[in-house]
Amino acid sequence: MLYEELRKSLHKTVIDLYQKDLIQLNSGNVSARASAEHLAITPTGIPYDRMTPEDIVIIDFGGAFVEGLYAPSSETPMHIAVYKNMPKTAAVVHSHSPYALAFATVGKSIPIICTEGLAVRGPVPVAEYACPGTEAQGRVAVQAMKGPPSVTATLLKNHGVLSAGSSLAQAYSTACRIEMAAKVYFLALQIGTPDILTEKQINEIRNVYSSKKPSP
Ligand SMILES: [Zn+2]
Repeated sequence: MLYEELRKSLHKTVIDLYQKDLIQLNSGNVSARASAEHLAITPTGIPYDRMTPEDIVIIDFGGAFVEGLYAPSSETPMHIAVYKNMPKTAAVVHSHSPYALAFATVGKSIPIICTEGLAVRGPVPVAEYACPGTEAQGRVAVQAMKGPPSVTATLLKNHGVLSAGSSLAQAYSTACRIEMAAKVYFLALQIGTPDILTEKQINEIRNVYSSKKPSP
């Protein structure tokens, strides 16, 4: 079986997302670049609590099936669009985490009001609406992440969250931090008007964290 170690790491990421309630049943999906030609991605329609590493599907960057027991995720076109347009991306996590999704439904981006927000290089943008499972969904997601300032995650209007990482661990932690930032922002809005961190404050925090690894 191809890419056994990668399948295991990808499966572990799926389980971690599931246990943190960022994905439920079979919604949301995860992929990782396996080689210059191949991509590993979660299968469509398999509940996460029953998924095994062997269920991860290998496809090429044209979307053609290479190896696996099931069809690849219905969001395969979106994942491929991210890898093709953001070449530094090694892994993509797409979740339907509830607080971030709530902001996606009202088209409100998540500003940086606490350190969790620093996981993305600016406010988490909201992509234009596109039908889930289509190439258009990938196109609008890439468009949102290419806007200034350049960010590696976006809310998908009325759909969920997409995070593109330089590793599976990074794509996973960004997805977690976005959900935490969305939850804090939501709670803060119930009791007042949260102060948004200024560029100067953000740079100060980044400098402190970069001199004291690990980063925020
Ligand atoms: Zn989705």
